[in-house]
Amino acid sequence: MLSVVLKAVDAVNKIKLKSNPLPVLYFHRVLPTATAFCPDDWHLDNFQLLIRKLSKHFTLMSLEDALQCLENNTLPSNALCLTFDDGYQDNYELAAPVIESVGGKASFFVSTQGTERGYLWNDELLEIVKCTEAKSLVFHGKHFNLDTEEQKAAAYLSLVGQLKVLPNSTRDSHLIELQQTLGKAETPRCMMTASQLVELQNRGHCIGAHTHTHSILAYQADDVAFNEIELSVRFLNKLLPKNVTCFAYPNGWFGRDFNEQHEEMLRQSGVAYGFATNDGGITLNSPKTRLPRFMPHRKELNQFCISIKKIAGEKLSD
Ligand SMILES: [Zn+2]
Repeated sequence: MLSVVLKAVDAVNKIKLKSNPLPVLYFHRVLPTATAFCPDDWHLDNFQLLIRKLSKHFTLMSLEDALQCLENNTLPSNALCLTFDDGYQDNYELAAPVIESVGGKASFFVSTQGTERGYLWNDELLEIVKCTEAKSLVFHGKHFNLDTEEQKAAAYLSLVGQLKVLPNSTRDSHLIELQQTLGKAETPRCMMTASQLVELQNRGHCIGAHTHTHSILAYQADDVAFNEIELSVRFLNKLLPKNVTCFAYPNGWFGRDFNEQHEEMLRQSGVAYGFATNDGGITLNSPKTRLPRFMPHRKELNQFCISIKKIAGEKLSD
């Protein structure tokens, strides 16, 4: 299956480009081994193959470098940006070294509560569901079997979907309710530390903000949404040698997960570029606080082929 992906990448290279919108791909985790709890994330072996192949055809640039070049009209025609959302420690331990081994740079969007305490609300939920001895759960009208690892993973994914679209306060009280029903569990650190973020920036990678508690902004009251942006930007600006210029909206679909109001909040927080998850390539005409990205992180590799084809299509049609 991977060979199909690699052929698609080869094909891209052969296409005569008319212009060069900047393609940006987004990932989350790069895992050492497979787990049913993270079905959409890449495994290290496949990720290494992918990066090696991509590096033969694309210049892997940090967002800040690429956007600067785009504005100066010096963007290499084969520029590609790889971005990683949330701030997981495997980004530092596995993804960054692989990208650096081919001379590339990447960008990491961090939800800063994870940096602070080591994990986000969904990581806490994962441990609660994984470690529970309960065999089933009824939660707000939904029934879950928790007999096997697969059932637990399915329950976790469904509960994440249910909780992530709630206002923060309701999300947090639901999490406490689940803890009371299923039993508490220790959540180990799974997010990058402050010093790892500093190190990545010093090594030439781009560090951007991704809200404080990984909150989908459209489901929050305005003051909560603004605070989520502001807290994460201020935290990183205090920590890092260079101020952040980039922000990725959690979930990131313009019109559903964030809107023009949140773009304005971003500008008020002093952030120049906002990244969505709507497909497209970036040109000088793209709205700066609503820049598109592609999703190649689905485990089904044909999804990745589609992403790559979209990049090619975008370049051809512009
Ligand atoms: Zn995220």
